[in-house]
Amino acid sequence: MNKAPSITSYIVLILMISMCVFTSFGTLPIVNAQKNNDYYYMPKDSPIFWSGPNSKKEIALSFDDGPDPIYTPKILNILSKYNVKATFFLVGEQAKLHPQLVQRIIADGHEIGSHTMTHPNANNTPPPTLKSEVMESVTYLQNLTSQEIRFFRPPYGILSPSYFSACSDQGITMILWSVDTVDWECPSFDIIVERVISQIGQGSIILMHDGGGNRQQTVDALDKILCELEQMQLRPVTLSKLFFTVTE
Ligand SMILES: [Zn+2]
Repeated sequence: MNKAPSITSYIVLILMISMCVFTSFGTLPIVNAQKNNDYYYMPKDSPIFWSGPNSKKEIALSFDDGPDPIYTPKILNILSKYNVKATFFLVGEQAKLHPQLVQRIIADGHEIGSHTMTHPNANNTPPPTLKSEVMESVTYLQNLTSQEIRFFRPPYGILSPSYFSACSDQGITMILWSVDTVDWECPSFDIIVERVISQIGQGSIILMHDGGGNRQQTVDALDKILCELEQMQLRPVTLSKLFFTVTE
């Protein structure tokens, strides 16, 4: 014989529904962290940033999808020419193929972040796989470089609860961008430069790519961009410098 649900069952059901509502992304606020366009999104204890503090004359250049044996060295040479630092969001499997390039990035004073192991599309990848993609890449990169990995960037900029969970567990921060060069479309050297210069400001995070295809336009544009940034007195720094160094 079926028993009627007890009052306790109803209370448990209501609590479960409440938890689902309050932990879903849609209910969480976007918080203004700074003036202008600086903002972040704070689901539980795992923040995500689109840009850094705008209180200093600093910006962050970030390069995704490498390391690449052709284009990463060219980009490193240009960064060295201007004596500026950047952040490279590495794909773990690429790093495994070219560990010496990862070591050079570190030796040149740049920062590395995780961009997963295989660059999965979060829209068609099981959540447990996404989480292990982050954990595995962070562990691999830390073991390879003996450096702390502080930042993660999701492939295609697709946010997933699995990524927030992985970042929270690892104590790393998710980073998107405020200036998208869309350089992977190879729109032309001039357009890549113009997209950066027309949108940049103090605290900007610029998205470019050193891997995943022919990046010669990115290489050519970078030289011009760094020349322009010198004129604008905006200094490219690593993400750790942008976020964690208070004084000049
Ligand atoms: Zn990518």
